[in-house]
Amino acid sequence: MSKTLIVGAGLSGATIARLFADGGEEVIVIDKRNTIGGNAYDYVDKNGVTVQSYGPHIFHTNDKGVFDFLSKFTEWTPYEHRVKALVKGKLVPVPFNLKSLDELYPKDKAERIKDVLIKEVGMDKKVPILQLKEHDSEEIREFAEFVYQNIFYIYTKKQWGFKPEELGESVMNRVPVYISYEDRYFTDEFQYMPKDGFTEMIANMLRHPNIKLKLGKDAKKIISLKDGNIYLNGKPFDGRLIYTGCIDELFGYSMGVLPYRSLKFKFKTKKCSSYQDAAVVNYTTSAKFTRISEFTKFACEKKEKTVIVKEYPRNFRKGRIPYYPIPLSQNTAHYCQYLEEALKYKSLYLLGRLANYKYINMDVAVRNAMDLYEKVKDKD
Ligand code: FAD
Ligand code: UDP
Repeated sequence: MSKTLIVGAGLSGATIARLFADGGEEVIVIDKRNTIGGNAYDYVDKNGVTVQSYGPHIFHTNDKGVFDFLSKFTEWTPYEHRVKALVKGKLVPVPFNLKSLDELYPKDKAERIKDVLIKEVGMDKKVPILQLKEHDSEEIREFAEFVYQNIFYIYTKKQWGFKPEELGESVMNRVPVYISYEDRYFTDEFQYMPKDGFTEMIANMLRHPNIKLKLGKDAKKIISLKDGNIYLNGKPFDGRLIYTGCIDELFGYSMGVLPYRSLKFKFKTKKCSSYQDAAVVNYTTSAKFTRISEFTKFACEKKEKTVIVKEYPRNFRKGRIPYYPIPLSQNTAHYCQYLEEALKYKSLYLLGRLANYKYINMDVAVRNAMDLYEKVKDKD
């Protein structure tokens, strides 16, 4: 029986741990936090509200394999996420769609732009804003500039510290403009919240006789790497190391610190059952925070009190949480230097948002873990 040590009890680590365990192998999972679930961690507060400590997390996927796998560990509450943005004093749907257009333009002009968009781009199309800004039609370019300024430019500068053009497609294509009246934030086939929360779902994944979980244990205090060899507590480690933490930290920052974006969350309990008109309101033209999320709306819970969180983006530095890898080409090149180093360690496997330095959703984290398991299960 081979030894497998998994660093990180987030969705990536928990998924691969469970797959090994179901396959009959014993694994150890460690996490430096005292909680499981990584950034998907949630808890029920004293008013009965499910609060997500690391920001709003909504499950959505088109990957049936991922959905079926997670369904073994939770029941689901159907939930379709809707987001609004505060623009010119009105709350309009985001992704920006024909309904948003109707709400912000005078009727005649709205009808004309809609006609041009439907004729030139096509009904039911989703177009990334940077692409719409380059359209041949001057009228469409003018409309795109309006959407760019009111929805994307300020929000993106706040969130990342960079302009939309600098970040490119992997960020900006996540929220395209919809040439339709579709007002859901996601159009994936499977859109649900785990009935008892993400923590409970992940706890069920980790609850297995073959999984030993140790919380409050920091890998950097027990793991070291040198000349292609892995050491655990100073002794050669001959098992597999599956690592879901920051790759630069694993290598002692020997090639410098990778850039991340961090966040500060400000939570407030409000003495009302509803605080705002949507589950999430994006502040795309004003305020220092990017968005306000209201947790009671995520699974349509009705409580006497509600809880909101404001997100304030900020630079990452020691002591802060590295929430988002920043997908600029120079950062990817920097990451690749670490990756090259990592490839010298034949039993080291990098997995997840931090170790792969990729801005991924939860379903992709699960899919990547499933794929990695298939790749390594028969290797020592
Ligand atoms: P993480 O959740 O970051 O888990 C990594 C774990 O490794 C952590 O628990 C950490 O403590 C541990 N660790 C790190 N270093 C060490 C170490 N040295 N020693 C021990 N343990 C260590 N996705 C969606 O699908 N829908 C959403 O709505 C959504 N919203 C998001 C909102 C925000 C604000 C953020 C930041 C992300 C959001 N995501 C969302 C993405 C989602 O959080 C990730 O896809 C998912 O958490 C990735 O899981 P992971 O296990 O790879 O990483
Ligand atoms: N975005 C924006 N305005 C919005 C919504 C999104 O500019 O109203 C941009 C912004 O750069 C953001 C990216 O699109 O970081 C992706 O948005 P998403 O909601 O997917 O971000 P996440 O929930 O992952 O933070």
